[in-house]
Amino acid sequence: MRILVTGGAGYIGSHTVRMLEKEDHRVIVYDNLIKGHHESVKNSCFVEGDLFDTKLLKETMEQYKIEAVVHFAAYSLVGESMENPQLYYHNNVNGTLNLLNVMQECGINKLVFSSTAAVYGEPELIPIDESARKEPTNVYGRTKLIMENAMADYAKAYGLKYIALRYFNACGADEHGDIGEDHTPESHLIPLVLQTCLGKRDAIKIFGDDYPTEDGTCIRDYIHVNDLAKAHILSLKALFKGAESAVYNLGNGNGFSVKEIIETAEKVTGITIKKEITPRRAGDPAILIASSEKIKKELGWQPEYTDVEKVIASAWKWHQNHPNGFVEG
Ligand code: UDP
Repeated sequence: MRILVTGGAGYIGSHTVRMLEKEDHRVIVYDNLIKGHHESVKNSCFVEGDLFDTKLLKETMEQYKIEAVVHFAAYSLVGESMENPQLYYHNNVNGTLNLLNVMQECGINKLVFSSTAAVYGEPELIPIDESARKEPTNVYGRTKLIMENAMADYAKAYGLKYIALRYFNACGADEHGDIGEDHTPESHLIPLVLQTCLGKRDAIKIFGDDYPTEDGTCIRDYIHVNDLAKAHILSLKALFKGAESAVYNLGNGNGFSVKEIIETAEKVTGITIKKEITPRRAGDPAILIASSEKIKKELGWQPEYTDVEKVIASAWKWHQNHPNGFVEG
């Protein structure tokens, strides 16, 4: 397969690029490096480019005879999306529409799209399946839902074949420990906990311990980044085999509370972490757990990293090796 990976220098993108290359597919990484790190794909074919650079995007698709696109390039911080919706609508909606239009001009009709559990908002039922009500509670989730709807329209009108993957809480790192999560600013629980273990932060803030859960802290479904990567490859293969467009959840089906994650990190690292209970963070539902039965049944996907200790150990290896993330000159 000859695949263009937009945002391939990002966290989930770089893991997917590595896995695709391991299977000997031809991969072209297309990234503007605003959030991504060139270092994370240093051995890959790389084009530094923006989704809005229509000319370069088209030239790249033509030059490399691209057959399908995996589209990661997007902004993904919930808090930032509420403060600066313009940025999110521009990049995630306009940028993706531009990509769809260029694909259409180049006659490319296969697309795997990064979506998110944030499209659901506050769930009515746990576990959440793909047919659940979709009422995002933040701008980030809304931009992804808008694009899911746009892709459905493009599919009907123009024959686009797409698979949208709704990630729950992406985490962990490749076993090699040389690529991993490096966001600026960092807002995700596991990297923040591990940075606290490294002494880079004084304490981990627990955003509310008065939720209706057993220990009072929020429960999330943490899914390893390589399990996500694998789902992208299965999706591409399905599209190449002529599969119809589809939307799938990706989680491992187990929920862990914030306190459980911190305790597991203490066990894995052998370091006691200073904790601070703070008020709830706006927009955080108490419990988010995925049902991923649909992708298991239809594409044969199975998460390998079902043990949260193993997940955190993989992230810990990355953080220990790269306490400052990808340091680039
Ligand atoms: N969280 C926390 N302290 C932090 C960061 C996150 O207590 O410093 C909690 C957050 O409220 C949520 C869970 O950890 O319940 C996972 O948050 P994260 O930002 O990693 O992912 P999200 O669920 O928002 O996608």
